[in-house]
Amino acid sequence: MRAVDIIAKKRDGQTLTRDEIDFFVQGFTRGDIADYQAAAWAMAVCVRGMNEEETTALTLAMAYSGAVLDLSSIAPRVLDKHSSGGVGDKTTLVVAPLVAALGLPVGKMSGRGLGFSGGTLDKLESIPGFRADLTTTEFVTQLQNYGIVVSGPTHDLAPADGKLYALRDVTATVSCLPLIASSIMSKKIAAGANVIVLDVKVGRGAFMKTEAEATALAELMVKIGRLAGRRASDAFTEKQPPAPLRVAAGSAAPDQRAGAIPFIPGRRVAAVISDMNQPLGNAVGNAVEVREALETLKGRGPADFVEHCFAVAAQMLLLANAARDEEDARAQLRAALADRRALKKFGAWIDAQGGTARVVDDYSVLPRAHIVAEVAAPRDGFIAGINAEEVGLTVVDLGGGRTKKGDTIDHAVGVVFQRKVGARVARGEPLFTPCERPR
Ligand code: URA
Repeated sequence: MRAVDIIAKKRDGQTLTRDEIDFFVQGFTRGDIADYQAAAWAMAVCVRGMNEEETTALTLAMAYSGAVLDLSSIAPRVLDKHSSGGVGDKTTLVVAPLVAALGLPVGKMSGRGLGFSGGTLDKLESIPGFRADLTTTEFVTQLQNYGIVVSGPTHDLAPADGKLYALRDVTATVSCLPLIASSIMSKKIAAGANVIVLDVKVGRGAFMKTEAEATALAELMVKIGRLAGRRASDAFTEKQPPAPLRVAAGSAAPDQRAGAIPFIPGRRVAAVISDMNQPLGNAVGNAVEVREALETLKGRGPADFVEHCFAVAAQMLLLANAARDEEDARAQLRAALADRRALKKFGAWIDAQGGTARVVDDYSVLPRAHIVAEVAAPRDGFIAGINAEEVGLTVVDLGGGRTKKGDTIDHAVGVVFQRKVGARVARGEPLFTPCERPR
């Protein structure tokens, strides 16, 4: 088998076999298949698409490019949430400690900024010392000891996604349904959580621009999640009952890599579809979003963001059977916010991953932009729209995201909005605050 033939096959619109997908992903992970070949292949996938079977095979190949965790010895339920990518989407920074503060373990593998969309790991790394590259053992140990862990794909967990993700970011191959679905679900399968809420964003600041596309992505990911828990052969026909098959933490059995899916007891996956036409909350940028997340954990978050966090966290509680109904879930979440349990959990989590936990009370530890300007309304009126994609791209342009693989980013830059869609504004009143560095 040759990488070039697999690229050509997809370029010509043909369906790849599971063996071809495994060969390609394994070769790329090992470094035998070069970045430029993977980039060409990813572009061919974007242009030609993949069917459900190819996407499932790609998901499994990436999940099994490293260890696949079985966390059932730690807790019967380990919870996770994942966003398909948006602008100002700092939801994990609030939802993870909020849910963990209720005694429900949250174990999550996150990603970095991708195109115009920000990444949880980049945001967290604005906190001095924070480590996003935990080993599998560190991931499991932290989950056990603190009930909360958020890390990135490493050489241990879903390394293929880590490598491909970085390439996609700078080769215009992000907005592609099979690549997004397999990227997200490979991380979910590898990280071993069995209660997963997928937050699929739709709108100008999302990769899925229409509701039809967002629904297709949500359905595909839920389906892949449902298939996880069956033998490979069953997964592809969906006829047989789940087969008990386990892969212990830290041991990705090579013979299982090509097809077997870990049987995660009671795995439940659900998706919510949420609006991303305007940025979520007021802050867009890495350090400014950490600050807004902390304000939210202190009960002072912007209304749209607070509501979104409650909606996602409530679904996690419901899916985990930890609440009677949505009202009960929201009451529990409100209590954990009000008595500062969630804020305390945030501090413990940051500390456990090497970050400066003092950030909770002292925002001055976060990087600050040199120039903080204010843009005022040129006339009286109402805010009719805020193009979230333009905002995301502006932050990338300011240095807050990457334009080439491996670019270092400036965590300090960003944009903070003073008015959102629907707000009335008088001439001369502030609209938003760009936080920049001198050029
Ligand atoms: N989030 C991911 O983890 N991967 C994608 O491709 C998009 C969003």
